[in-house]
Amino acid sequence: MRFDVVSLFPDMFSVVRDAGVTGRAHKQNLWSLNAWNPRDYTHDVHRTVDDRPYGGGPGMVMLAEPLECAVEAAQACRSNAGLTQTAPVILMSPTGQRFDQAMAQELAAGPGAILICGRYEGIDQRFIDRCVTREVSLGDFVLSGGEIAALAIMDSVVRLLPGALNHADSALEDSFNDSLTGLLDSPHYTRPEHYLGQPVPAPLLSGHHVNIASWRRQQSLMLTASRRPDLIVKARNAGLLSKADEAFLKQLLA
Ligand code: SAH
Repeated sequence: MRFDVVSLFPDMFSVVRDAGVTGRAHKQNLWSLNAWNPRDYTHDVHRTVDDRPYGGGPGMVMLAEPLECAVEAAQACRSNAGLTQTAPVILMSPTGQRFDQAMAQELAAGPGAILICGRYEGIDQRFIDRCVTREVSLGDFVLSGGEIAALAIMDSVVRLLPGALNHADSALEDSFNDSLTGLLDSPHYTRPEHYLGQPVPAPLLSGHHVNIASWRRQQSLMLTASRRPDLIVKARNAGLLSKADEAFLKQLLA
């Protein structure tokens, strides 16, 4: 797994490379990261990477050429490194497809990606038309640059790589994953058994694995039904809800 990021702020990526689960996975060589600065692919003394928009309006627009040269450099470097599978060129953009766990799983099964981080008002459309294979949004809000979106994507993909997580922090039981049939995770508790007068829910202390699993499943169903009813519908349409799930939901709504 190899990620290449095209960004005017390559230093921002040390976070995901050095810290926590993704940092550990990087040390274990489960993935690698290379940053490409469009400024290194300019030819003028000012190393210009942006200019005023045609048609007027506020803000600046990123020039197509330094971006395209940076992508070409990343692609050449990947193939020199022996990566035969072409990587998708993904533009971070609020107008893109909303990123989700399914996309993270899809990327985790591939060779990585070249992630393009925009800045300013946007990017010359001709670069997007020529080089970008997919546009992805982190959500319905506007960031001042694509770097934080790229960091989020890499983090969510790397933690899915086999060996990235210890048993202790297994991804299987996370929200949106298959073992939860795409629903939200249930609440977690640890010691002490009583915290400021609040006890741990009794089923979790019972030592009875079937009861614990069924309590967790019901908590998941309850939380998802109230916060993300769309995920219940999705799981139902995919045939992932059991008879017991449906009976519990029916009782919940009654
Ligand atoms: N004028 C653009 C926003 C530009 S923000 C618009 O309204 O659509 C500058 C850069 O930040 C973008 O080029 C993109 O790379 C990044 N960005 C902003 N919001 C984002 C989001 N929700 N998801 C992913 N990238 C985002």
